[in-house]
Amino acid sequence: MGKKYFAWSFDDGLEQDRKIIEILKEYRLGATFHLNSGLFGEKTWEGRIGNLGMTEMPAAKYEAKARHLLPYVPHFRIPADEVVQVYKGFEIASHTCRHVNLVRCTENERRAEIGGDVKALSELFGQPVVGFAYPYGIGAKQSRDALKTTGIRYARVATSSKGFSFPADPLVTPLGGWHLSKNIFERLDAFFHLDAEQEDAFFLMFAHGYEFDFGTKESNWNKFKRICETVAKHDDVIACSIGEAFRRHEEG
Ligand SMILES: [Zn+2]
Repeated sequence: MGKKYFAWSFDDGLEQDRKIIEILKEYRLGATFHLNSGLFGEKTWEGRIGNLGMTEMPAAKYEAKARHLLPYVPHFRIPADEVVQVYKGFEIASHTCRHVNLVRCTENERRAEIGGDVKALSELFGQPVVGFAYPYGIGAKQSRDALKTTGIRYARVATSSKGFSFPADPLVTPLGGWHLSKNIFERLDAFFHLDAEQEDAFFLMFAHGYEFDFGTKESNWNKFKRICETVAKHDDVIACSIGEAFRRHEEG
């Protein structure tokens, strides 16, 4: 009989993660946090159009302007001296040192950005770092060698999967869903009602903490809690980190 794994995946190491972690603990859900070791403490503001974060503006520039055309939410990263305490008990994964566009990097830059981040994070957190998320969801093809030499076992892209199978190639792991999709509860329902006789299934739920601050109909803190509550209600779903889902799936 197949097992069902659900994992939350959060990017960039943001201040909103503190509140996210409180809620995850309340519902006993696991998660993976993809961090940039070279950007701890950085403060920018994220302008949105609809439910999409569109433009990042450095905090000094944002504060210097009296008026803004777009609605903005804070994209403040947790400082280096607090991250270990904040993320205690959760899987830490890499997202490159400085959130670079891997398509535009040279091979040496890719190796430095990926290898350097994995090394810094594993030393800082005292846990092996085996997970990765491509900044902007791109660069899977170009980064294969750099990821493999670094010991990365799975890497998340930004496209969505159709079904709920574990990916044939873990270095191109798609999203099961994005919390702010209109049909996310229908999508979750399809996952919950999968035939128990089938193979192992996986739902990777994607989010950035700042998106919950949008306060729009499809992207808000209440919806985040409702998703957590719905997942927690299903006893047959193993809600863990991405790394644990892969590990348990591979171990059988
Ligand atoms: Zn990111």
